[in-house]
Amino acid sequence: MDDLERLLEAQSFDLQIIHLNKQLAELPQPARIADARAKRQALQKKADQIATLHKEASKRLTRIADEDASLEKKQHGVQAAIDAAQGDYRNVEARTKELAGIAKRRETLQAEHAEAEAEATKIEGLHQQVTAALEDVNRLEAQAIDEFQQQGGALKKSEADLIAKRDACLADVDADLVSEYRKTAERLGSIAIGTLDDDRCGICRSVIDGGRLIALQNQAPLGRCPSCQRLLIIKL
Ligand SMILES: [Zn+2]
Repeated sequence: MDDLERLLEAQSFDLQIIHLNKQLAELPQPARIADARAKRQALQKKADQIATLHKEASKRLTRIADEDASLEKKQHGVQAAIDAAQGDYRNVEARTKELAGIAKRRETLQAEHAEAEAEATKIEGLHQQVTAALEDVNRLEAQAIDEFQQQGGALKKSEADLIAKRDACLADVDADLVSEYRKTAERLGSIAIGTLDDDRCGICRSVIDGGRLIALQNQAPLGRCPSCQRLLIIKL
């Protein structure tokens, strides 16, 4: 009977352990962490696209600036040629036409430059948005990890304490009895041992009829409920 009392006490720890594990499985942080990681992946993809756009916009701005600088140089050269060709009317006329062409092209480039700059500003805005969103996601993930470590860690510690108490409780109990209890507990994933309550199973509350009740009582002090198959302590 002492062994059976200890088994009941061990079970009270096991039930608390099951409850703790349920709490652990229900912690919301793992889903939040997975969500943050999926969001970061999507944002990272966006950030890569923006980086490509940024590169293209920079190239475009450089190309425009380079062409404009070379045109400016050319402008000076043509102007110098005009200055040197005073009196050579046809030459001056041709050079002046050339100068007008250069000025026109530089005007077009100026408009293109303004457009490219507006585009670059837009891209920079997107970059800042994605960077801020990434920081948010990282902060949320870190927060969830921190919370999970604290709450999960506390639950794990409580579980370890309960396991130690349960094992201490079972230390001197007959090994076959412990093994039978463990198998039953594992199979049911819940309460495994109770007491016979007159003609009822103390756990599932099924009435055990005459013939089976007598057979069960003959197994005292320990039998099984014919209905739920749990171990039943029989006190006669
Ligand atoms: Zn039962």
